[in-house]
Amino acid sequence: MTIKFGPAGLGPVKTAKATLEDYHRKGLQACEISFTYSNYIKKEDAKLIGELAKKLNIELSIHGSYFINLNAEDEKKLEASKKRILDACEIGEILGAKCVVFHPGFYAKISREQSYKNILKAVKEIMNAKKKNKWEIEISPETMGKVNVFGSVGEVASLVKETGCSFCIDFAHILAREKEVDYKKIEKIFPQENWHCHFSGIVYGEKGEKHHKTTERKEWENLLKNLPRNKNIRIINESPTMVEDSVEGLSIYLSGSK
Ligand SMILES: [Zn+2]
Repeated sequence: MTIKFGPAGLGPVKTAKATLEDYHRKGLQACEISFTYSNYIKKEDAKLIGELAKKLNIELSIHGSYFINLNAEDEKKLEASKKRILDACEIGEILGAKCVVFHPGFYAKISREQSYKNILKAVKEIMNAKKKNKWEIEISPETMGKVNVFGSVGEVASLVKETGCSFCIDFAHILAREKEVDYKKIEKIFPQENWHCHFSGIVYGEKGEKHHKTTERKEWENLLKNLPRNKNIRIINESPTMVEDSVEGLSIYLSGSK
């Protein structure tokens, strides 16, 4: 088993080289580039950043736009959502990124069953477009932290089963949504060898996630103790102190595996 740690951010293109070198010096081997507000990396830059990351042994991933709703009733919004994911895939492919993580959608006034059907259809279409373009990058719907947002563990696992898409297991979100994390159940429901994960400290209430917070040492210890041993896992930290948190996670992992 290998676990790679890294933060949810690369920052501006002009400092990307220095940032990646800094992550590398700190022993981090993953980095999630945030396209949450825009796909801000141009094709020419993507090639250079991708080559450098590869040289430094850092696996890249992308966090897709916040403005995605594959359960949108408005056809235009739905098409725009699919396009945002595919545009991120196109740049991600040049970056050599492993996956584009995205928030699948909102239930709004639509039943959970119908929401699932709508999102399933959209994910199938994205998978087909990806295949047509011969892109290797994976698309990874994320388990979501708010009770009224699509993305329970079961919903994401079903999408994986029915479409062949990949997945992002966000352990903080699962805790916020379900108030506890059933690691055995997660292991059973995601038998795949490669896991892309998010993990951070989180503040939550009745309705689920409120916001991320700095990850505490005991939270890292608990996660690392419970992760399966026979997988390749990437853990992206999204806390306000994501670089320091990732370094702490890595050092706990390394001290435990000696
Ligand atoms: Zn996310």
